[in-house]
Amino acid sequence: MDWISHLLFSLALGAILLKDRTREKMVLVALASLFPDLDILWYHRSILHSPFVLLLLALVLIFRNRAFFAPLLISFWSHSALDIFLFDNSNHTIKNLANQVVGNESIAQHIEDNITRYASADGIMLFWPFSGERFSITLEEKSYAIVAGFIIMIAMFSFLWLYFKKLSRK
Ligand SMILES: [Zn+2]
Repeated sequence: MDWISHLLFSLALGAILLKDRTREKMVLVALASLFPDLDILWYHRSILHSPFVLLLLALVLIFRNRAFFAPLLISFWSHSALDIFLFDNSNHTIKNLANQVVGNESIAQHIEDNITRYASADGIMLFWPFSGERFSITLEEKSYAIVAGFIIMIAMFSFLWLYFKKLSRK
């Protein structure tokens, strides 16, 4: 999934699951939701996407403040969960979309090559270090759009809910 989906999904989960949502914690949720993709620097969707590694990392990172554990873990794990979904680009949807925008076949091809190189992988190692097997659910265009739309909906509803809760407190 793309970084905007990661951001929205983790913020929505944080809004729903965290009892006290201080600004500090929500910033942490936002940052942590993007963190696993740092492995793009060496090998995308490698061990930094493994739920177990992320749990250990969260445990290490909270040595100064235990209150950060829940936001970190929610955010980290929401990232792993989303990255199980892969986009089936066998119909060259990305290239076609890009071509509609730039109107140039070879640039569109170039864009597709780059996106697929960085964005798509063959799933995540769900049980690393116990097993190196990769798990994924490949979605074709329509179901991918439904999942993405669903994330945006959850995010919108939770932000609205928070907003009205805040208003009613005044
Ligand atoms: Zn990722």
